[in-house]
Amino acid sequence: MSETVHWADVIAEDVLKRGNRHVLATGITPSGPIHIGNLREVAIANAVFRVLRDHGAEARLIYIADTYDPLRRLYPFLPEVYEEHICKPLSEIPDPYDCCSNYAEHFLKPFLKSLERLGIEIEVYRADVLYKSGMYTDLIKTALEHRDGIAKILAKVAGTSIPSSWSPFNPLCEQCGRITDAIITGYLGNTVDYECMCGHQGFADFSKGEGKLTWRVDWPARWKMLDITVEPFGKDHAVAGGSYDTGVHISREIYGHEPPYPIPFEHIFLKGKGKMSSSTGTLTSIQEMLDVLPPEVLMHLFLRTKPEKHIDFDPGVPLLNLIDEYDRIHGVQIPFRHMVTIVQIAQDFDQVLKVLKRSGYVVSDIDDIRQLSINAKNWLSRFAPTFVKFNVQDTLPVEVKKLSQKQRIALGLLADAISFKKTAEELHNKIYEIAEEAGIDSRDIFKAIYVAILGKSSGPRAGWFLISLDGNFVRKRLREASKA
Ligand SMILES: [Zn+2]
Ligand SMILES: [Zn+2]
Repeated sequence: MSETVHWADVIAEDVLKRGNRHVLATGITPSGPIHIGNLREVAIANAVFRVLRDHGAEARLIYIADTYDPLRRLYPFLPEVYEEHICKPLSEIPDPYDCCSNYAEHFLKPFLKSLERLGIEIEVYRADVLYKSGMYTDLIKTALEHRDGIAKILAKVAGTSIPSSWSPFNPLCEQCGRITDAIITGYLGNTVDYECMCGHQGFADFSKGEGKLTWRVDWPARWKMLDITVEPFGKDHAVAGGSYDTGVHISREIYGHEPPYPIPFEHIFLKGKGKMSSSTGTLTSIQEMLDVLPPEVLMHLFLRTKPEKHIDFDPGVPLLNLIDEYDRIHGVQIPFRHMVTIVQIAQDFDQVLKVLKRSGYVVSDIDDIRQLSINAKNWLSRFAPTFVKFNVQDTLPVEVKKLSQKQRIALGLLADAISFKKTAEELHNKIYEIAEEAGIDSRDIFKAIYVAILGKSSGPRAGWFLISLDGNFVRKRLREASKA
């Protein structure tokens, strides 16, 4: 990647042609657990944001939580009684887990916390607060005044037929609390008259947040309100006639505002399960990933891939390879892959430290090491395929009976060669030499080592593995196996 120009540089260069002051916007609807697919959007914006800043541009990175969107349906994780909250704004629904101020906040909080852990500094807006604060008032008024013009754009650009009762503004019914069910019958000043499907007739003051703009109008309205100049979004919004397309027309023709520079991006697919999505439950939550990965590696996953390319996410061995790649590029203190081996050797954290010292690592940042060991354990229990897992056998495994005479001789030679003065690499090379000396293929000596210690024919890289173990134990075990 280093020889080629990074995609974020290419985009930033393009963006800078439009000026030197930028607001980069991201956002999602916190209707359920926020998954790593959502994080891609923030990662993309953050990457471009940083390049713009490096170029001396005046840039802000913002995140708009769509807390005023209605609850669409009864998601699998919701109790049956939440049926009554469908079509109410998320910010007005109680937290189903009863620990936060409202439904939206429950899913938003851990996401914002994850962003913090990822080192992403972002200004957060909540849609319900924007509406209730009156920031939308003039934008709603303009939309109501240009109702016909907007309807014409939607009909022409999106090719949908717009019913005569359609309004760009959806009032919040004061009776049933739903934000999707009312029809506007008139408006004056800052209020609209409405008739709700629940039978209630009333009026809503939109300067106080008693309703919201419909999505296709809301989006261009906020471009103007927050002066948004750059925005990444899922490619489904980018299709001809999609919400970006209609947004461009509404922004220019109704709000007189230049739409933001678009960065459409592809979805993340979870191996064997399809597109990640909160509503289908096909997802890996960000927290779940941060349980197994250092945050930087997660960002690395997004940065190495161009936004328009889809990402196949496989949390098994490919994830381990990804972490390897990251560790190689950044030269980390203790490679994750080695920690995966060490936590399978050590009984507890004290032993982890002991094994690390034995392996020649400088053990200084205890908290970081502890976190890495927890990550490795989580990865092993949740995502690792069986061939990565092993158990150091307390007694000589019965499988050693199947070893050949030459393999036994090789193990005996190796037992004599084990010494603490060797580095892992030296020991690893020594194993090859001994194989030659014993007249066997190197694969057969490695096999013999794993059989003698793990009772199976494969295992982690032998030099590094053996040096992690107690030297006396290894010597004794290899001798036993050589004589069995
Ligand atoms: Zn909560
Ligand atoms: Zn109602």
